Amino acid sequence: MSGSAPLRARLAAWSPGNSLRGRLVVLICAIISVILSGQAIVGLAGEVTELDARVATRGTVLAQSAAAMAAAHMTSDVPDRFAPLIEQLRRSVDLVEAAVVDREGRILGHDDPARIGTHDPSPLMSGMGVRAPIRGLMHLFDEKADYRVAAPIMRDAQVLGFVRLHYRSDEISRRAVFIVSATAGWGFLWLLIGATVSTLYVRHITRPMIVLTEAAGLISVDRLDDVHLEATDEPDELSTLQRAFVHLVDALRAQRLENARLLEQVLGLNADLQVRVDSVTADLRAAHDHLESVVGALEEGVLSCDPAGVIRSVNAGLGRQLGGLSTPRPGDPITVLLPGAGDAVRAVLEQTLAGGHGVSLTLSAREPATEAAPDGAEREIALRFAPIVAADGVARGAVVTVNDETERRRIEMQFRRQDRLVSLGTLAAGLAHELGNHMHIIQGFAKILQKRMPAEAEHREDVDAIAEENARAVHLLRRFLQFARPDEGAHAPHDLHALVREALSFCRVELKAAGVTIDDRLAPAETPGPEVVCDARLLQQAFINLCLNAGDAMRGRPERRLTVSCDDTAPGGRDAIALRFADTGPGVPEGLRERIFDPFFTTKSTGTGLGLSITAQIIAAHDGHLSLESVEDRGATFTVTLPRGRSRPPAEPDPEEVP
Ligand code: ADP
Repeated sequence: MSGSAPLRARLAAWSPGNSLRGRLVVLICAIISVILSGQAIVGLAGEVTELDARVATRGTVLAQSAAAMAAAHMTSDVPDRFAPLIEQLRRSVDLVEAAVVDREGRILGHDDPARIGTHDPSPLMSGMGVRAPIRGLMHLFDEKADYRVAAPIMRDAQVLGFVRLHYRSDEISRRAVFIVSATAGWGFLWLLIGATVSTLYVRHITRPMIVLTEAAGLISVDRLDDVHLEATDEPDELSTLQRAFVHLVDALRAQRLENARLLEQVLGLNADLQVRVDSVTADLRAAHDHLESVVGALEEGVLSCDPAGVIRSVNAGLGRQLGGLSTPRPGDPITVLLPGAGDAVRAVLEQTLAGGHGVSLTLSAREPATEAAPDGAEREIALRFAPIVAADGVARGAVVTVNDETERRRIEMQFRRQDRLVSLGTLAAGLAHELGNHMHIIQGFAKILQKRMPAEAEHREDVDAIAEENARAVHLLRRFLQFARPDEGAHAPHDLHALVREALSFCRVELKAAGVTIDDRLAPAETPGPEVVCDARLLQQAFINLCLNAGDAMRGRPERRLTVSCDDTAPGGRDAIALRFADTGPGVPEGLRERIFDPFFTTKSTGTGLGLSITAQIIAAHDGHLSLESVEDRGATFTVTLPRGRSRPPAEPDPEEVP
């Protein structure tokens, strides 16, 4: 088995390309070979059988004639009386052994004289006319055939003995060689003829197939124009195939023309479509740019996120609204929006997506701690979540608008406070006016009395005291009215540092009595400070209020220091000045930080609760702002922010105006 594989491989290599032509030639040659081999084998078998019988018969006849000749010498005693007979036999055949044996089996004559007189061991009749079997087909060609025959020696109808003959003949092998050679010669000739005929015939079949194959190859590489086939009218299968192929090529050509026409149409449509797509894309881009610039220009923060809460886009306003709190970017989870409020934000997003409608909420968030505000300033951020709903009604995310409400809340509070102060001012003005009328009358009568009474009169001193105290009360009333109507004050440019120093000098005695040291960090007195256009008396009153409140707050504290400093570049901008009054008192508890600016709010038993509200109103009337930073048990810092050199047409108050 193992040897057949390389042989097969060799045959396959030899095979002419495994082509149909090659296979057909091999097939035809094989058929011729099988037929010739069969003929040769049948012929050889017949010839061998016939020749075999002939040689055997000839040997038998020879033995019988030898037996007839030997009958005359059977009774003689001459030892080599059969020698001529045996010599004659030797000349007649290719002798192997020849023996004349009497009835008892004693050898009377033999081709080997030494065996004369011995007993013959061969069974006499067993070899009669029998040829030794040929050992294999191949020995037919290279071996002589063995024959053993025997014939009885008869005289007077009595058997005297036997002539036994063993000879060989190469007639069969010669005949076999001849037959095989002749068959091989004829076979070769027939094979040659068969191969030639089959090659020619097969070529007749394969040629059109090769042409068709080449045409198919050209079609497969889209070289339809190079295919030149003509249909024949022959009825055979190949012509039918060729006709079908020609039809196929024609159909392909027609299809190609149709394809080209359709392609041209599609290209035309494509060009139209491209123009429309370009125009729609340009419109979309313009709309997108417009939308982006609108969203970008919005003061409020806007962000969009997907249903998983991943931020997709943010506008510039978001940074402005969340400045100092967080800086969300696309790709961040929405929970980073407000520090410490991630869970609330996520819950509202889920509520929005589930409900499919907008949800608003306001959350508090604390800025990171700074030195000025170690707890971090608290901010109020208003959020509005609105779902982004696709045409199929499924929420694809949400848009969140973000507004820092801290400033609005502060302004609201200020407005409320202002409202109450305006009411108070109106009330106070009315009251002061009424009181003023009566005081003017008192003043008038007091002056009349002073004129009529001689200087040394008994109650002259009392009258003078009434006039003097009344005049002081009138002056106080006027000042009170100025608090209530600060806008009506006299505005003029002033050195702010000088105003602060003057205010400090007014309350220096009281602060000193409370054991407070003043840490003056303003610019040196000889250096001119920043200029503000203001009502000096009102501003001074505001500063005095802040200083006296600080003194009150530090009462009983181990360290009592009031630090006054001025920052020319306040956070409000280049033209803002920040004036700070920082004390080392207990600070303002967080819950009271807004309320202390309300009118009438006080924690002191003897307080009026008007100081800070009036101070804030005075500063607001100067387009400024009063703010508080406080650290519990470490002190409070009130910051007065004022615009530098504000040019407001100063109102001319009547210094002698009496309410
Ligand atoms: P009054 O001084 O009459 O109480 P204010 O309006 O001036 O009224 O002050 C209101 C409240 O603000 C005070 O009662 C006090 O509790 C608080 N306050 C003002 N200044 C300070 C300060 N420097 N430190 C701590 N608390 C202060």
